[in-house]
Amino acid sequence: MTGLETIFEKLTTTYGSLYWWPAETPFEVAIGAILTQNTNWKNVEMAITNLRDEQTLTPQTIAELPRQKLEQLIRPSGFFRQKTERLQLLVEHLQSRHNNQLEQLLSQPIDVARNELLQLKGIGPETADSILLYAGGLPSFVVDAYTRRLFERLGFLCGNESYEQIRTLFMDQLPTDSTLFNEYHALIVEHCKRFCRKRPLCIDCPLSDICIKANVSS
Ligand code: SF4
Repeated sequence: MTGLETIFEKLTTTYGSLYWWPAETPFEVAIGAILTQNTNWKNVEMAITNLRDEQTLTPQTIAELPRQKLEQLIRPSGFFRQKTERLQLLVEHLQSRHNNQLEQLLSQPIDVARNELLQLKGIGPETADSILLYAGGLPSFVVDAYTRRLFERLGFLCGNESYEQIRTLFMDQLPTDSTLFNEYHALIVEHCKRFCRKRPLCIDCPLSDICIKANVSS
C-alpha cells in the first residue's frame, strides 16, 4: 500500500463515506465549478438557486440570457462579471463544438477533454479537473489549497510543487479510479476543516502519528 493509500484508509476510518458535490446534472456541476472560484459554496448555492428559479441551468438557456441578466443571477457568487464571461465562453464553446452537450465534450479521452477545457479562458486546472471528475466521472485528481496544506504538513510535498506535479503524484500513487479520487478529495476537505486548519488542531488529529508537522506537545 502506498503512503497516499494509507492516508486514505485512515481518513475513511475516521469520517466514513462522504457525499460530495450535490448537483442535478453534469452541466450544473460545471457551473458550480466556475462559480466556486474565489468564494465559498454557500454563495455558489445562492447563485445556482437563482439560475434554477429562472430555469436557466442548461447551456442553451445560459447562452440565450442577456449578459446583464446573467450577471444579476450569479451576483451572489462574487466576481460576477468575470464569471459571467467564463460561463458565456463555456456555453459558446459547447454550442459551437459539442451541440450544446457538456456530456459530448466529456465523452472524449480524458486528456483531450482536459486540454479542451484548459483552452477556455478562466478555466484553470482545478476547475477543469473538478468538471472532469464530478461532472464526467472521469479519473482526474483535483488539487486544491487544502490538498497542498495537508500534504505539505504530512511531508509528501515541499511547498514549491506545481499543480501538475501534485496531481501527477496522486495519480501515479493511487489506482486510476474516479470514485476513489472523488472520495479522497472530500476526505481531504473534511479533514482540513476539522483538524488541519490554518492553525492545526494536532492533539486529537487521526493522522498525528504519521505527520511530520504534528504539534501534540501542548
Ligand atoms: S497532525 Fe496537525 S499538521 Fe498534521 S495533519 Fe494533523 S492537524 Fe494537520
